[in-house]
Amino acid sequence: MRIRGAIHMHSTFSHDGTLSVAELAALYRRNNYQFIAITEHAEDLDHRRAECLLDQCREHSRDRLCVIPGAEFSCGEFHILGIGVVTAERQADAITAAETIHSHGGMAVLAHPKRFGWKCPTEILRAVDAVEIWNVEYDGRFLPSTQAAEAYAAMKRAQPPLLAVAGHDLHRMASFYDVALVMDVGEPSAAAILSNLRQGRYAIESRFFRSGPDGRISKPRSAFLRILSGQLRKMRQARSLIEELLS
Ligand SMILES: [Zn+2]
Ligand SMILES: [Zn+2]
Repeated sequence: MRIRGAIHMHSTFSHDGTLSVAELAALYRRNNYQFIAITEHAEDLDHRRAECLLDQCREHSRDRLCVIPGAEFSCGEFHILGIGVVTAERQADAITAAETIHSHGGMAVLAHPKRFGWKCPTEILRAVDAVEIWNVEYDGRFLPSTQAAEAYAAMKRAQPPLLAVAGHDLHRMASFYDVALVMDVGEPSAAAILSNLRQGRYAIESRFFRSGPDGRISKPRSAFLRILSGQLRKMRQARSLIEELLS
């Protein structure tokens, strides 16, 4: 079975999230997603809230949507996503966070590289499974940052197995953009999805972009560039019209 999913979104369990878990589930179900991996800010969770998050993810995993709970650990300037791991334990640094995530059977993802200028110590790259080559909140919609390909290639030279993922980092309804992690699974369970993610058995797909888990772009950007040049032409026409009216 071919399924589409998204990782990295925040519900009201995070201080800056605006949608409940139920609303997140409904939003993604409506947009034809079969799994989401929620990553709440770990500093907003304590033991009770972590339990509550797990309950809600279980409750809303239905109607052909699997809701995988997780956390985002702030470790100085680096944020590490724990896909499939919810823990209220504080993490001393990014490497310890990745180790904790792995000890709980999760996937460790280095979030929004733009925040740290796309430069990260090799020890951290070696500790995580993947890096967000595209974070919709930080890098924008439609396409990854122009820096992404080069920066990811440099990271991969330091750590060849490092996977590429796209993350939504969604906090509110209006910032939804359809970029999916697409994979084939037998049974769409959280365990099977997590296993595919960790083994890099998925592709990143959006309207204007497609790449493998190795960041190799397989869909040309020409479609996007055609739309952009069409918009620019319209803007130029509008400007000359305004100038005519003003003269
Ligand atoms: Zn973050
Ligand atoms: Zn986040």
